[in-house]
Amino acid sequence: MASSEEGTPTAPTASVDFIRSIIDEDRAAGNNHGRLVTRFPPEPNGYLHIGHAKSICLNFGVAAERGGTCHLRFDDTNPAKEDVEYVDSIKEDVAWLGFTWDAMFYASDYFERLYQFAVELIRRDKAYVDELTADQIREYRGTLTEPGRNSPYRDRPVAENLDLFARMRAGEFEDGTYILRAKIDMGSPNFNMRDPALYRIRRAHHHRTGDTWCIYPMYDYAHPISDALEQITHSLCTLEFEDHRPLYDWCIDNLFEGDRPKQIEFARLNLNYTVMSKRKLLQLVQQRHVTGWDDPRMPTISGLRRRGYTPESIRNFCARIGVAKKENVIDVAQLEHSIREDLNKRAPRVMAVLNPIKVTLTNYPEGQVEEIDVINNPEDAAAGTRKVPFSRELYIERDDFREDPPKKFFRLSQGREVRLRCAYFITCTEVVKDANGEIVELRCTYDPATRGGDAPDGRKVKATMHWVSAAHALDVEVRLYDRLFKVEDPEDVPEGKTFLDVMNPESLQVINAAKAEPSLAGAAPLATFQFERLGYFCVDPDTQPGRLVFNRTVSLRDAWVRIEQRQD
Ligand code: ATP
Ligand code: MG
Repeated sequence: MASSEEGTPTAPTASVDFIRSIIDEDRAAGNNHGRLVTRFPPEPNGYLHIGHAKSICLNFGVAAERGGTCHLRFDDTNPAKEDVEYVDSIKEDVAWLGFTWDAMFYASDYFERLYQFAVELIRRDKAYVDELTADQIREYRGTLTEPGRNSPYRDRPVAENLDLFARMRAGEFEDGTYILRAKIDMGSPNFNMRDPALYRIRRAHHHRTGDTWCIYPMYDYAHPISDALEQITHSLCTLEFEDHRPLYDWCIDNLFEGDRPKQIEFARLNLNYTVMSKRKLLQLVQQRHVTGWDDPRMPTISGLRRRGYTPESIRNFCARIGVAKKENVIDVAQLEHSIREDLNKRAPRVMAVLNPIKVTLTNYPEGQVEEIDVINNPEDAAAGTRKVPFSRELYIERDDFREDPPKKFFRLSQGREVRLRCAYFITCTEVVKDANGEIVELRCTYDPATRGGDAPDGRKVKATMHWVSAAHALDVEVRLYDRLFKVEDPEDVPEGKTFLDVMNPESLQVINAAKAEPSLAGAAPLATFQFERLGYFCVDPDTQPGRLVFNRTVSLRDAWVRIEQRQD
């Protein structure tokens, strides 16, 4: 059983949405003896993504707020695509998000019981073994406007069905030759009720049951039974299962008495500039368009974690978007807003220079080093100050200097005075260039009377810039990320194109020679910081002793808007 450091949190602004209303009414009416049990049922065929986080926050959140319980259930009925790597990652991600499951189950634990329930359905003439080919089954199924036709095998005697189903299990038949179908109604307007498949033959090695089984239950059959066996009261799922609800209820009605789970559908989370299907995410990983499931550009929980997202920011995001019945698309900027808001409160401010240019203070004593008290957070006096070494040779951001400053450029230029944060006023006196005409050094003077960053004579400067002392700076690698896709809806592409064709070629930019203040030495993986004026950054697990690697979690302002403006 997982535990998290903080215990199971309740969502901060969990208002009473339609699902919470239904749950409260059900309990008030005494349904299911007033119990509340939910479950989060991932299929272990990929890593969890931000869409799953919505479902996790809902299922675990509702139970935690209302004194219920929530199960983690691995929906591992399709052996072909499932793997223990995914099981492990799912457990890690749910716990990291801050939730504790009250019990953990695997649908595969129910294989024997699911089989016995199927035998029971056959005995009661509610299921039969069919031997139409897949193509024939499709043909018999009918269309939206035409009812289906009964399979010629539909009226097999019960005894023959029992015999064939036992032999399916015993491995006497080839894959795909026989299936077990529910006997419901080939004339139903709902396709899911036209004698849906319950079991198929599939010789596939299962990550938990090995080669014990060669028949596997279908999701629509295994899911309601798993819910009922666990005495789930509210089975919350996404809208695409709405049409499957009659089948869900059919399984429960025919196999269980008394307490029963209620399926309620809600709209899945869609984010613009993002793909969210596990199949597509898997493709990105397998074809190496990203470095792995936890690539910081991925919408996976592990990717967001590596990017520097906190569990709180994701939970706040989920609480803010809420739960509703209508499909919509959430702006990914809203997710970015949640992490900015959270890191603004918790990330220490530090100084780092991404694109350094050397500054020499010509009137500063050679060999002198001062410890400057730098204010940790200008918006929060309680955050105090830290000592940052200052010396004759510094680095500032190359962008903070212009040889020919345009109007409204108030940062450094020749002859202009600016403030180095909490240190001194400096004035640029000379620009040193190499043989190619590239600026390699700025020679400046400093005013010793302005120590701390204020002039005693009251004179003002229009810019305050971050800096690091050259001799003390840490060499760091910085990875800047942008959206993985160039278009709002990567699924909506012209004919003949795929989502891979609309990937953003500039989604990753690696800066090898950034410079950071020495207080960052030894920062732990995933520690988050605000690099003053640049954005929020976190330590990437690729960090080695002596070689820090940072991911930019999010810029202080929206980077994408600027890129788009540049493209116009
Ligand atoms: P995908 O379509 O990406 O493969 P899935 O729905 O098949 O996702 P599951 O592992 O079956 O993935 O999902 C587990 C639970 O998470 C389900 O209850 C599912 O409804 C829910 N879920 C999946 N994607 C989203 C989403 N985008 N928004 C909200 N809930 C989701
Ligand atoms: Mg699914």
